[in-house]
Amino acid sequence: MKIIRNIAEMQKYSDSIRRAARKTPHIMGFVPTMGYLHEGHISLVNAGAKDCTKMAVSIFVNPAQFGPNEDLTKYPRDEQRDLTMLEETKSVDCVFIPSAEEMYPEGYAAYVNMENEMTKTLCGISRPGHFKGVMTVVAKLLNAVKPDKMYLGHKDMQQAIILTKMIKDLNYDTEVIICPTVREKDGLALSSRNSYLSPEERNTAPVLYKALQMAVSMSELGERDAAVIIREIKRKLKEDRVEIDYVEIVNPMTLEKTEKISGSALIAAAIFVGKTRLIDNAVIRVSE
Ligand code: AMP
Repeated sequence: MKIIRNIAEMQKYSDSIRRAARKTPHIMGFVPTMGYLHEGHISLVNAGAKDCTKMAVSIFVNPAQFGPNEDLTKYPRDEQRDLTMLEETKSVDCVFIPSAEEMYPEGYAAYVNMENEMTKTLCGISRPGHFKGVMTVVAKLLNAVKPDKMYLGHKDMQQAIILTKMIKDLNYDTEVIICPTVREKDGLALSSRNSYLSPEERNTAPVLYKALQMAVSMSELGERDAAVIIREIKRKLKEDRVEIDYVEIVNPMTLEKTEKISGSALIAAAIFVGKTRLIDNAVIRVSE
C-alpha cells in the first residue's frame, strides 16, 4: 500500500498505473474520507474492490468544509490506526494523505459553488458554506487521484447528490456509486463523530434511526402527507429529549421538499445529542 502526501506525486502515480496497463486498462476506484475510519468507510473500499482493479483512499480533514464554530480542531484523527485498517482490507493500493498546506497553499482562491436549491436546504441551512467546502475539496481530490469511479455513503445523501451534480456539471469523467449506510446493531449509523458521544448519549443516539424507521412505517401504512409524518417524527424526537436541527421529506433526486409522497422520497434528519450533531436518512417507497 503506497502512501502519498503530495498532489503532483498522486497524479504521477495515477498516470503510471494507466500507462502500465495498456492491454487491459485499470479501473481506478476512489474513496474520499476524513479519516478516523470505521466499517462504513471500509464498506466503500470493499464495494470499490469488487469493480475496480486499483483502489485509492484519501484521508484529509478538510478545513474548508467546517464553519468557524464547528469541530475542525477536535475532529478525531488517528492516521496509524487508519492505515492499519486500510492495509487489512488488502484492497487498497494507495492512500493519499495531503496536508492542509498542500491542498490550500497561501493565496489559495478557487472555490467550487453550486447555484441551486440543493445546497440551500437540509444541512445547507445550519452549515452555511459547508457544501462549497465539500465540492471544492472533492474537485481537487478528483484532479489529484483521477479515478474512474468514486464511492460515497448513503448516510451523507445530500453530499452524494450535490457531488453527483457537480461531477456532471463540471464534466468530470468519474462515475459516482452510492453505497448503503453501515449501522451499529441498534441502528445508529456509523460515524467518526460517534466517538464524541458519552455512554449516556450513545444510548440515546439510536433514536434518530428509530424515528426515521417510524416514518417509513407510517408511509407503509398509507400516510402520504409529509407534514403529518414530520410532525410525528419531531414529537418522537422531542420525547427522547434530543435537540432537532431539521426533519424534512424531500425528492431523492432534487432535494426539493415533498408535500404529498408518491413513488419514492427521502426523509432526512439532523439532531444534536448533547453537543454532537448526528445526521441520517431513510428512503420511503410507496406504491401509487
Ligand atoms: P467522512 O469520513 O465522514 O467524510 O465520510 C467519508 C465517506 O464515507 C462519505 O462518502 C460518507 O458518506 C461515507 N460514510 C460515512 N459513514 C458511513 C456509514 N455509516 N456507512 C456508509 N458510508 C459511510
